[in-house]
Amino acid sequence: MKGKLLIVGFGPGSAEHITKRAKDAIGESDTIIGYKTYVDLISELITDQEMVSTGMSEEVTRAQAAVRFAEKGKKVAVISSGDAGVYGMAGLIYEVLAEKGWKEESGIEVEVIPGISAIQSCASLLGAPVMHDACTISLSDHLTPWAIIEKRLEAAGMGDFVVALYNPKSGRRTKQIAEAQRTLLQYRSPETPVGLVKSAYRDTEKVVLTTLANMLEHEIGMLTTVLIGNSSTFLHDGKMITPRGYRRKYTLHQEEQALRPHERLRPENEPWALHEGKEEKGLGAKKQDSSLQIVMEALEKLGEPKQAQYILHPQIESIFELAVSPGVANKKFTPKQMILLAELAGDSGTIEYTPHHHILLKIPTGNPENVTAALTEAGFLLAPVGDVAQLKACDFCDGEKQDAIPYAEEIQRKIGGSEMPKELKIGLNGCGMACYGAVHEDIGLVFRTGKFDLFLGGKTVGRTAHPGQPVAEGIEPERIVEVIERIVGEYQANAHPNERFYKYFKRVQKVQGFWHSDSAPAIELEPAPCGE
Ligand code: SAH
Repeated sequence: MKGKLLIVGFGPGSAEHITKRAKDAIGESDTIIGYKTYVDLISELITDQEMVSTGMSEEVTRAQAAVRFAEKGKKVAVISSGDAGVYGMAGLIYEVLAEKGWKEESGIEVEVIPGISAIQSCASLLGAPVMHDACTISLSDHLTPWAIIEKRLEAAGMGDFVVALYNPKSGRRTKQIAEAQRTLLQYRSPETPVGLVKSAYRDTEKVVLTTLANMLEHEIGMLTTVLIGNSSTFLHDGKMITPRGYRRKYTLHQEEQALRPHERLRPENEPWALHEGKEEKGLGAKKQDSSLQIVMEALEKLGEPKQAQYILHPQIESIFELAVSPGVANKKFTPKQMILLAELAGDSGTIEYTPHHHILLKIPTGNPENVTAALTEAGFLLAPVGDVAQLKACDFCDGEKQDAIPYAEEIQRKIGGSEMPKELKIGLNGCGMACYGAVHEDIGLVFRTGKFDLFLGGKTVGRTAHPGQPVAEGIEPERIVEVIERIVGEYQANAHPNERFYKYFKRVQKVQGFWHSDSAPAIELEPAPCGE
């Protein structure tokens, strides 16, 4: 009986991602050789085969054993995760056979069965990061000198390859990944998207999206593959995407394309291609030009500086949402500010007036920092949207009743925009008229005769809306910022997610020493003459 070597890549580790041929090969084998963890992963497929997994941590020993068993007439399945030909057992088996003078015609039969390698399985979980030229680099320097691995990292960086790092880190090899990061940062932006995939398609799978600059802040181990984007890889809605090429010869949101199919291939539309009859190289003539410089040069030749920017700052447009107002106390927009809002929103953005005296902007942009910088420069007060603390002050009678403005500004500085369990509105009005409705907010402050009255737990909207309860009268101004900070801090730390302040107040009955009226009667308010 003639033996056979079946060298099987079983894919990332789930039963659905093993090929049919791999399953059949395991089924038809008499003996299975592989790491214990691998054997466990394919345990469903094992019937009555002899298992050889223990006592052979050395891959060479396993390869030799496999050949020996096959020579004795066994059908031996040697299993590797992923693809057996990618840092797997296939090469070693052939090395052992070659050493023995094996020939396909006369020797034992060998079949290498391909599997889905980590670069592919991990890429699928991240989106489509490996859409362009990519390479795999193993950071294991047990059998390869580190100096060579470093050269490969350099070359990958220089050539703008998408990089999949295999064997990135183990208990003893911890410095290699940091060195790899350092090398690639010489060629690539710190913002380059990076995907970390641990145990793809296994029960303990974990996927993290990060950047080249921050990747070391996350867990990376023996079972992780690190996928590093090229200079045009971008993130969209949690997906890592590498475009098919450097120049968008297509416009995704238009049906009619600027370049018709035959035009796309003209030399003037691809000055970087190797055209028939072209003598000088034109681009990248200087040998030391980096691939990024070459791409930039080419795009500039095409008169596409915007594209060049896209290449350098790999970001795609998304809708940037924020709220703006002219100031804490100031309620007047200048014409210049209005023009800036219009310019920033452009044709596709929106400008919306909210019930909270805010202008809500939705701006499609790949560069939110530029938007916030322009708005800040124009004197706008910016506020994030969502479940954050928001100060709603009055206009202090156009600044005439200005004594409370510094307190409003300090509260805004310390608390405004902080994340909360649910949106939290703090109203601050500068006199007893409270005409901007501070007492109807979650937390209300009314400045009157040099001191603050405090209202807690207003229900701001709905048919059961009600004002806040007066809980203190005449708080000294120098204490007020701290009092508010403590109340907000307690709510932030202890409220349930989505629990609005009035509900929290009712549930706990006492916030920072201020009682809910269910437990103690609300304080009697001193009647105040209009406007005081
Ligand atoms: N033959 C395998 C690679 C073996 S080298 C293949 O083609 O995929 C071992 C390395 O592969 C690990 O350090 C890790 O970087 C990667 N790897 C293998 N399986 C993986 C999985 N399910 N998820 C993430 N990375 C994996």
